Amino acid sequence: MQVLVLGAGQLARMMALAGTPLNIEIHAFDVTTGNIVQPITGQVIGQGLALAIDQADVITAEFEHIPDDILEQCAQSGKLLPNQTAIKAGGNRQREKALLKQAAVNSAQYAIVQSRDDLLTAIETIGLPMVLKSALGGYDGKGQWRLKQAQDIDHIWPELQDCLASSAQQTIIAEQFIAFDREVSLIGARGQDGSIVTYPLTENVHTNGVLSLSTSLDDLALQQQAESIFRAVAEQLDYVGVLALEFFDVNGQLLVNEIAPRVHNSGHWTQQGAETCQFENHLRAVCGLPLGSTQLIRPTAMINVLGLDSLPDALLAMEGCHVHWYGKQKRPGRKMGHINISADYSGELQRRLARLSQLLDKENFPALHKYD
Ligand code: ATP
Ligand code: MG
Repeated sequence: MQVLVLGAGQLARMMALAGTPLNIEIHAFDVTTGNIVQPITGQVIGQGLALAIDQADVITAEFEHIPDDILEQCAQSGKLLPNQTAIKAGGNRQREKALLKQAAVNSAQYAIVQSRDDLLTAIETIGLPMVLKSALGGYDGKGQWRLKQAQDIDHIWPELQDCLASSAQQTIIAEQFIAFDREVSLIGARGQDGSIVTYPLTENVHTNGVLSLSTSLDDLALQQQAESIFRAVAEQLDYVGVLALEFFDVNGQLLVNEIAPRVHNSGHWTQQGAETCQFENHLRAVCGLPLGSTQLIRPTAMINVLGLDSLPDALLAMEGCHVHWYGKQKRPGRKMGHINISADYSGELQRRLARLSQLLDKENFPALHKYD
């Protein structure tokens, strides 16, 4: 099988690593350069998108911010999975909110803001504090503003106005601020035959809007709640592939924060912690193969490596510790790799995380230092 992935970053790379044992070959379309590349080496394969579409058995995506014309071109071939509607819902918060409403699942109350008057009305209906998010183009906490008190409007309105002016399709979503107890996500896969598998929930810690620590979670009641929401959203979209749902846990009730129509950073722990990792299951789903077991093998945590291209060798000497590099050029704050750490039971995993925090500095790994 040959799969063309839209996007040539670490997610395409990890799909290629997971696909190799199944004889699934991955070619990746680098949306910024227009090149078709081998996603592990970055080597340009040297053919245009049209030919790559022709040669692929299946086309999928590693990110949701794909230009409409490219998505349309891929959809026309009849090979695109998940479908265009699902990918676009992940890349546009307005579509996403409408989808969540259709699927009858709970999310934070919101209003559309196109003008200063809309913002004043939104404050009356939603209340303060609120979070303002650009509908298009936001990721890793970018394109977001917090509004705590009405007198701060003058301060942020010029930025909101610039954002609205950036494109005719751009809009702002004003969202109720949720005082959550914790953030969790559910990663699952839906096959071409409609079968669904889901991984154990993941608890996520974000630092400055970016995911820093994910830990597999064992909570039966919350798991059942998340799985029924997953089913509702995946079936509403007639989804095929891996889908990630991010939630706020408020007193045991889950509110959907956002959906990601792809493999997800909070699912990287499945490489060491689950019977079949999310990358393999995504490929199985889009290629029409049976889905693999999502059974937890061992409690596992994932730590993102941001802006660094080396780690102490001592990490590799630790039992249950695995390092995954993405082969990218170092830039401040850039996702460069991740660490997966596993143990036979969760008490031992907490001890190993504490040991890891002694090897990794607080500045670069703030979430880890709660284990100090
Ligand atoms: P991602 O990298 O996951 O795509 P993103 O930039 O698209 O992130 P969100 O997931 O919507 O944006 O927001 C990033 C983080 O900001 C959330 O994980 C959460 O910690 C916080 N946040 C977002 N919306 C709210 C809200 N309504 N109330 C409280 N906190 C929020
Ligand atoms: Mg998010």
